[in-house]
Amino acid sequence: MQKPSTYLNETLNTLYYFGKKPRIHNPISMIIEPVYGCNLHCSYCWNAIRHYFEHKSKRPHLMSEEIFKKAIDQAPRSVESISFALIGEPLLHPEIHNMINYVSGKGFRTILYTNGTLLKGDKMSQIAESGLNVISISTEPDSFNSQKHRGVNLEKLKENVINLSKIKPDSLEIKLSVVVHHDNYDKIHKLRDDWNGIVKNIKVIPMSKYNGTSHPENCMEPWRGCLSVLTSGEITPCCISAGYKSIPIGNIQNESLNDIIKGKQYKMLLQNFINGNKPDVCIRCTEFCSSKIPLRVPKMK
Ligand code: SF4
Ligand code: SF4
Repeated sequence: MQKPSTYLNETLNTLYYFGKKPRIHNPISMIIEPVYGCNLHCSYCWNAIRHYFEHKSKRPHLMSEEIFKKAIDQAPRSVESISFALIGEPLLHPEIHNMINYVSGKGFRTILYTNGTLLKGDKMSQIAESGLNVISISTEPDSFNSQKHRGVNLEKLKENVINLSKIKPDSLEIKLSVVVHHDNYDKIHKLRDDWNGIVKNIKVIPMSKYNGTSHPENCMEPWRGCLSVLTSGEITPCCISAGYKSIPIGNIQNESLNDIIKGKQYKMLLQNFINGNKPDVCIRCTEFCSSKIPLRVPKMK
């Protein structure tokens, strides 16, 4: 977050949450899902763990230009950043560089979340020139875990990142993100030394699960003001739910984004949370139950 108005909107959204109001003040960010599907099969992926459940999403593999432009053209001005992420690898979309460029041209801060394995050749040059502000690359702290949990050669991935750092404009920040789990938590401290001078910072994320029993009593996520747009055009106020059963508040193919934000479905969802009547995915979700994981977030020099 960089704009003062975003802090203000976030504060007001938080007050609505604590005041048990079934609405938000204003959205502050959006996440676009350009691709539903991935070239990897990480052991802890939302995509891979959905076998715990009966549900399999039937949403399209790629987001259409029509849905994408509707979402961006209707994004409220309170939105500061638009990310490309969710349940898939955005670089699999053939138009991803043009999508980033379109969002950037509208004045939004742009963020791309990727596994980095396709970041080479023309694709890398296109991304470097797209107007992107932040690229966040997911990885493991060491070669063994990278191969075991992601099937990725860490040295090759690092080569991609170094090559990008050589051609990227100053305006593009490279960040790293690591999911912490039982095999790698004692290796997190290595990250700072291994990536120093290559990436700007490192985010360490606790692993999410949908098979928990100790779910958060009062999840604030739907009040955060971050709207996710799935490849199907479905809008959800929680990106975490998108890996299993999204909690939709409408579809941009049928109504305007403004109507969805102000609409009955969103209000009813928030009211259900207030009443303790949460969707199934939330009852099992462990997203905010990770306080016991021993995180050590490395600080970059
Ligand atoms: S790179 Fe991301 S989306 Fe792809 S399998 Fe791994 S965790 Fe899932
Ligand atoms: S899926 Fe998890 S993070 Fe999302 S609203 Fe439900 S409890 Fe919160």
